[in-house]
Amino acid sequence: MRAVILCWLLALASSIALAQQYDLVIEGGRVLDPETGLDATRNVGITGGKVACISSDFLRAKRVIHAGGLVIAPGFIDLHQHGQDIESGRVKALDGVTTALEMEIGVPDVTKFLKQKEGHSLINYGTTASHPAARALAFGTTVAEGGIVPKAGIATDQPASTEQIQRIRERLKQELTAGALGIGMGIQYTPGATRLEVIQMFRVAAENHVPIFTHVRSAGRIEPGSSIEAVSEVIGAAAVTGASLHIVHINSSCLKDSMECLTMVAGARTRGLDITTEAYPYTAGMTDLTSALFNPGWQDKLGIDYNALQLPETGERLTKSRFDQLHASSAPLWVIIHSNTQEIVDAVIPSPLVLIASDGLKGHPRNAGTFSRILAQYVREKRSLPLMDAIRKMTLMPAQVLEKSTPAAHAKGRLQEGADADIVAFDPQTIADRSTYQSPMEPSVGVQFLVVGGILLVDQGKLVSDVFPGRALTGR
Ligand SMILES: [Zn+2]
Repeated sequence: MRAVILCWLLALASSIALAQQYDLVIEGGRVLDPETGLDATRNVGITGGKVACISSDFLRAKRVIHAGGLVIAPGFIDLHQHGQDIESGRVKALDGVTTALEMEIGVPDVTKFLKQKEGHSLINYGTTASHPAARALAFGTTVAEGGIVPKAGIATDQPASTEQIQRIRERLKQELTAGALGIGMGIQYTPGATRLEVIQMFRVAAENHVPIFTHVRSAGRIEPGSSIEAVSEVIGAAAVTGASLHIVHINSSCLKDSMECLTMVAGARTRGLDITTEAYPYTAGMTDLTSALFNPGWQDKLGIDYNALQLPETGERLTKSRFDQLHASSAPLWVIIHSNTQEIVDAVIPSPLVLIASDGLKGHPRNAGTFSRILAQYVREKRSLPLMDAIRKMTLMPAQVLEKSTPAAHAKGRLQEGADADIVAFDPQTIADRSTYQSPMEPSVGVQFLVVGGILLVDQGKLVSDVFPGRALTGR
């Protein structure tokens, strides 16, 4: 706040020679803020990790970045980032992301996660409390190392007793106290969870004033178990409990019925429910081949066959015998699923209901390329998304979801005086994803500068070494 007042004083007395000196100034860029609608050439002064001044006046600083020709926007916020390793942090930073949170399913141990990341993260981080992990504990098992959900088995396929549901509730409450930003559910990965169990989890969320983030129970058109039924289930649970609900990757959960699922979300919102959703700009998904998603009948449900499955390391397409062999694996095994069409993805991305989130992890190009791809393909090439709308989907909209769990999120996703200095500066003519299914960790190009909490993390398109400015975003 003090820095902001200094900005006003500076504006009043701009002729005084001994003006305020900022830590960092980004000068002459096209500054965009989706909340106020600012879209103008401005100078941005940063001090003490905060945006202290946005002005047309000359600002002095120890370091001045000349940003003519660049777009200056709030750093991108990714609500759905599984890969929390350092390599993923690097490619996220070069994709313009300043905050990447594991919200879909959460982590098995929030305290341990926050401790491991502290001082070691390039970008800001946070997580939900994991329903699948809490459920595994209630069944006396755990999530496999390297996995995000329990392998198909008792903790995933069996209904929980009343006592076990109570234990899951208690564990989730503990995890919220430890700093979780909501409750993450992957209902398709725990098919043993009954409708009642789901409602009970939504109650925990409502009682603790945090949202549910969920991968819905099923995908496809076959009833029972269609995408429409799965979305109906969680909208119903939100309605009867009052919990806020965020449905993850509506593109890959709803497939051919994606637009109908969006109409359902719109209808629920019109009737006063707090429901949000997200998508990523790729036609293929990726998940664990040993998970319950591949329980018998998956081909008919998803309308695909073995050859739609591809191993990320080798590009190998699977056959029945190869699938059977790998499905029996005891360790998690990631597989790319070619299950969607470009037409569906292109229809989903521009919807005003849809924010952008990557579902990122190593092995899939969405880990490194999601945000640049939106700017390259939808803003620049297809022109189906105005630049300000794209920025809103990647900054303000995810920040507004996070505000339900933490007041700290009010300072994120905005480029305003007093906001956190998480800022991306990119070249709108050249920004592009480079990652492919063959080379999924290829970093994006076009992000010239990235500031995280006032610290330069990307300088002239290159990562700065030995800085770890990422900070935790935690619940109340
Ligand atoms: Zn998912």
